[in-house]
Amino acid sequence: LLATTGERLLLGVDLGGSAVKYGLITSEGAIVDHGKIPTLVERGPEDILHRIACALDELLARDGRRRTDILAVGFGSPGPLSTQRGVVIDTPNLQWKDVPVQATLEQDLGLPLVLHNDANAAAYGEFWKGAGREAQIMVLYTLGTGVGGGICLNNDLLVGPGENAGELGHMVLDPHGPQCPCGHFGCLEAFSAAKAIVRDMLIAIASGEETSLKAVDQAAITAKRIFEAARDGDAVARRLFHRAGWCLGLASGNLVNVLNAEMFVFGGAMSGAWEILHPAILEGARASAMAMPFEEIKFVRAELGENAGMIGAAGLALRAYGS
Ligand SMILES: [Zn+2]
Repeated sequence: LLATTGERLLLGVDLGGSAVKYGLITSEGAIVDHGKIPTLVERGPEDILHRIACALDELLARDGRRRTDILAVGFGSPGPLSTQRGVVIDTPNLQWKDVPVQATLEQDLGLPLVLHNDANAAAYGEFWKGAGREAQIMVLYTLGTGVGGGICLNNDLLVGPGENAGELGHMVLDPHGPQCPCGHFGCLEAFSAAKAIVRDMLIAIASGEETSLKAVDQAAITAKRIFEAARDGDAVARRLFHRAGWCLGLASGNLVNVLNAEMFVFGGAMSGAWEILHPAILEGARASAMAMPFEEIKFVRAELGENAGMIGAAGLALRAYGS
């Protein structure tokens, strides 16, 4: 029916380490249809991109559409990458180096494509159609193994001249703090990522602190397990989750002062610990925010779940090619 109205649709792709999610999206951000294929990293980038092109064609065929119904494709990928050049520069978890995603898929599909960092795409998704849709300036954190994110303002995604905006996890909060995977010390990620919580629980156990997890096999100690212990009242686990939230709040308060950001959205697997994180986030933010009446700043969970990246990528394609 839509095809006969002449509405141009978008394709959104979210490339992850284990799966590729893709969808047919309207210019209003509604999902018409979607699918998922395994990434199969070991087969290499050419194979993955070829299977994505086939999957998109199948999706169109299934819905009775043609490529000419599509305005553009938005593609979210782990970075670092260049949106300007359409190239994924280097991603350790996919083992990709200088992969020309835009040129390859534009040729295979005969459609224009825009490439963005996956966390930035998710941020734009939440800003466009999710928790941040009423906000003027929104910051999204993706909380997982690491801490990623993106900043949206002026109806757009902040990318920056060096294409590195939104590296929220690498704001240094304490230069005397623990080392971050990036090499610096005391980054937000070194306190608030799942990895950081696991690291410090193992340190606490090794130093003889009293915790219900001390009898658990070290390999079985995950952030989820530590969260469950915290919920059951384990003091060490509670302290680590409180610190993770407090640091997120402290960083957010700084962004309130710098950007006048009014909304902070938290997504990713670790945002499942919201009941413990949220009060700590508010506490940390109160310790640094000064630019607004505090009650006007919103700290909320993401709404689009695992669809955020796919929807956001489609939205960025609409921004790039819509007029
Ligand atoms: Zn860092």
